[in-house]
Amino acid sequence: MPLLKPVIRQGTINFIAQSDVTCYIIRGEYGDLLIDTGFLPVKRALMRWIDEYDVRWVFLTHAHPDHDWNAAEIQQKGAKIILNECDRTLRRNFLMQRVMPTANRWRWRNVTQNIGGGLIKSPAYDPDIYFSAKNTDFLKNYGFDAEIIPLPGHTYGSSGILHRDVLYCGDAFTALNGTPQVPMHAVNPMTMAESLRKILDLKPKWLACGHGLPVRFVDAKPVIQAYLWAHCK
Ligand SMILES: [Zn+2]
Repeated sequence: MPLLKPVIRQGTINFIAQSDVTCYIIRGEYGDLLIDTGFLPVKRALMRWIDEYDVRWVFLTHAHPDHDWNAAEIQQKGAKIILNECDRTLRRNFLMQRVMPTANRWRWRNVTQNIGGGLIKSPAYDPDIYFSAKNTDFLKNYGFDAEIIPLPGHTYGSSGILHRDVLYCGDAFTALNGTPQVPMHAVNPMTMAESLRKILDLKPKWLACGHGLPVRFVDAKPVIQAYLWAHCK
């Protein structure tokens, strides 16, 4: 994975994108919320970037190592970690939720995901806040006009955040190299398809993905529709 210079953008969507991984910050009334923490190669640039903010909370869209690698260190600096309880046992244990390819062309890539995932373990952390699908409205208590949206399928605990017209969706949708695409791997492809339908219903203006730069919903929508048409008749 090439370690390219990070792309940093501040504005409606604050993000840092490096080495195919993208992390976001939502600014709140009492402090800021970091969405995902990336992988080891992005650590240095990420830490420098978040120094410009007041990160009090870290929302992990799911417990894969390319999203939670730097959670432990940021927690040690005082931020509270938020994770869906369905991914509790997935931390440092990728094979707890072995992934399947979402299309035939990802079969080989899927083998390498499970092998690589089984070997890689993020530094240990214990989330401060576990939530469930029944408890998704608490971000308002922390000063964010935002709602947690469960988007299971890629992992059982995969979740996003809807903030204004942006859905921060983790790996529920991807945009690697600017190409809108459904996730290549899912613990349960049928559940993933239901989450894609949920995204179509929500109709956010932007999808802020965990891999690749944010994509407009109008560009993602036909890709999601084509996938659902081909795979879920
Ligand atoms: Zn993932």
